[in-house]
Amino acid sequence: MIQPRLRCSIDPTLEISFNRPSLSGDEVTNVRRVLEGDHLSGDGPFTAQCHVELERLTGAKKALLTTSCTHALEMAALLLDIRAGDEIILPSFTFVSTANAFVLRGARPIFVDIRPDTLNLDERLVESKITPKTRAIVAVHYAGVACEMEALVSIGERHHIAVVEDNAHGLFGKFRGRPLGSFGTFATLSFHETKNISCGEGGALLINDLSYLNRAEIIREKGTNRSLFFRGQVDKYGWVDVGSSYLPSEILSAVLSAQLKHHTILQMHRHRVWDRYSAELADWAGEAQVILPTIPYTCEHPAHLFYLLLPTLERRQAFIAHMKQAGIVTPFHYVPLHTSPMGQMLGSQAGDCPITENVSERLVRLPLFGSLTADEQGYVIERVKAFTV
Ligand SMILES: *Cc1c(COP(=O)(O)O)cnc(C)c1O
Repeated sequence: MIQPRLRCSIDPTLEISFNRPSLSGDEVTNVRRVLEGDHLSGDGPFTAQCHVELERLTGAKKALLTTSCTHALEMAALLLDIRAGDEIILPSFTFVSTANAFVLRGARPIFVDIRPDTLNLDERLVESKITPKTRAIVAVHYAGVACEMEALVSIGERHHIAVVEDNAHGLFGKFRGRPLGSFGTFATLSFHETKNISCGEGGALLINDLSYLNRAEIIREKGTNRSLFFRGQVDKYGWVDVGSSYLPSEILSAVLSAQLKHHTILQMHRHRVWDRYSAELADWAGEAQVILPTIPYTCEHPAHLFYLLLPTLERRQAFIAHMKQAGIVTPFHYVPLHTSPMGQMLGSQAGDCPITENVSERLVRLPLFGSLTADEQGYVIERVKAFTV
């Protein structure tokens, strides 16, 4: 592991950032191997290794690396043949890409509120939003804590609607012992710098219905059947469908491969930080009426993020200012999509998702990364507890 710079806990000029990338140690060696070889473009040996490893880790039938989670979501929308007038059910409490990928195809996002405990799409509200135009339910496993996947999958089956898991937070997460990413027709992963496993910018499409695989390979390769050609299954390749360029270069896959190979240790460090926050902030939170993350007994989470829910927007803003004074960066998170300028243009309005609106004003995230030292974390915890809620 690359050691973080030491931070003296009383030096106010140093900052504890929200995230620092964690390296496994093999990234540079892997990248050097690619640069000294003759395969720099996509789908070389490192990409193939990543595919195998991701299939093993998630139980997905097929994994395809992409240049981002956003692009994997775009591929899912293309594969589902989403068209103008279609409706997509999704939470408002998510990143813009969850919606944009489908809006790009002309679909209308139908925002559903979240559960107050896990902050995930409230499965009890989904069925009432289904219309003859509904084509997909996109579930986001917030903080890598699973949505109620049995309920969502059965709603999807009953109405012949695809379920897509936006699993950007949830690699290594499980629901009833089964890995996230294995439930939906498709699932997507992110390897952005802020995610548990990273290659700077990257993602993957996980496919659980193999009838989509052939077309997925074509769409990912600019609408050509080049993948079949490389496997010797056709003797020339050409333009056969719509598509774009969704595959990452081997240079990025080399970085990702190193991260995946050492995922056990990378995850161990994150869990250590998460578990200490949970243990040492519990009493303070109880007294201060601050809510810590809820992890249902059915879920194993991947220590993606640790949040606090303060009582009000005003106290949340005061908390962020208090921590900033101490040199600690504690960002809030998603601004609801349904009240955003674009969400309103697409027909949503304030009041549509009251829990989302309330939670997004009260939530704040603590620094969480594998190389946060025990001293640094002790300092963060001490400053949190010094805040008068
Ligand atoms: C990070 C994130 C994305 C986008 O990931 P990129 O790889 O940056 O495109 C999408 N959805 C969620 C829920 C995310 O957290």
